[in-house]
Amino acid sequence: MSFSCNFDYHMHTSFSDGQNTMEEMFNKVKSIGLKRFGITDHFELNAKNTVKVSAREYNNKFSEIKKISKDSGIKFYRGIETGIGENGLLIPQGEIERDYTIASVHKVSNDENCDENEYWKKYKRLIENALEKYDFEILGHIEGYLPVKNDKYLKTTFEQRRKIERKIAIKYFSFDWYEKIAEIMKKRKIYLEIHGATNSPRIEVIDLMRKRGVKFSFGSDAHSSEQLVIHRQYIENVINLLDLNDNDFINFDKS
Ligand SMILES: [Zn+2]
Ligand SMILES: [Zn+2]
Repeated sequence: MSFSCNFDYHMHTSFSDGQNTMEEMFNKVKSIGLKRFGITDHFELNAKNTVKVSAREYNNKFSEIKKISKDSGIKFYRGIETGIGENGLLIPQGEIERDYTIASVHKVSNDENCDENEYWKKYKRLIENALEKYDFEILGHIEGYLPVKNDKYLKTTFEQRRKIERKIAIKYFSFDWYEKIAEIMKKRKIYLEIHGATNSPRIEVIDLMRKRGVKFSFGSDAHSSEQLVIHRQYIENVINLLDLNDNDFINFDKS
């Protein structure tokens, strides 16, 4: 029997920019039969969608749902999703309790004059720098939700944006570059996210990274309970096509 993915380590609640409460997300996780999941609301400096309630309020809700979750035999982890800046991760001041961190590039410093090639070089440099120096567990949506600098991009449909991203990835994110970051990821035990919301990264990239010894996380990046289901399709395809198994994935129980 082929391996079935019964976890999801990337989703948001109404504490940040999700549509459903933590409890509603948990209920959906339970109803679709997941055994491990992590909620990763945005905690990011200067980001509109960052969590605004007090640490106490957030902690209380987390503890409450964790208890219900445990009673149902489901492991509930507490993560955060933050941004990658030039001088560190963009985590707001103060201790933010968490089991793990997803770091994603949500913005590349704006330089209106730089050409496309320079711009994506900067994006890649942010990632390389973070992988070498900063502490986090999962590199988020490397080829998805790209911070495309052209404003017109925002006026396109969801599907059109995914196509644009695919072209950018093919043109600017070479396999050589992936081989280079694979070394660092393997050494520092940083997981590459397979991103359900954008069906990325490319299957060839996942294959290459696996051959280089990189392990993966799966994240639907669901911003609603329905997306928990819709955004799982890609992971099932990837598992079937590349014959991935338990050992290829993150498992906080074992680490
Ligand atoms: Zn993100
Ligand atoms: Zn996210």
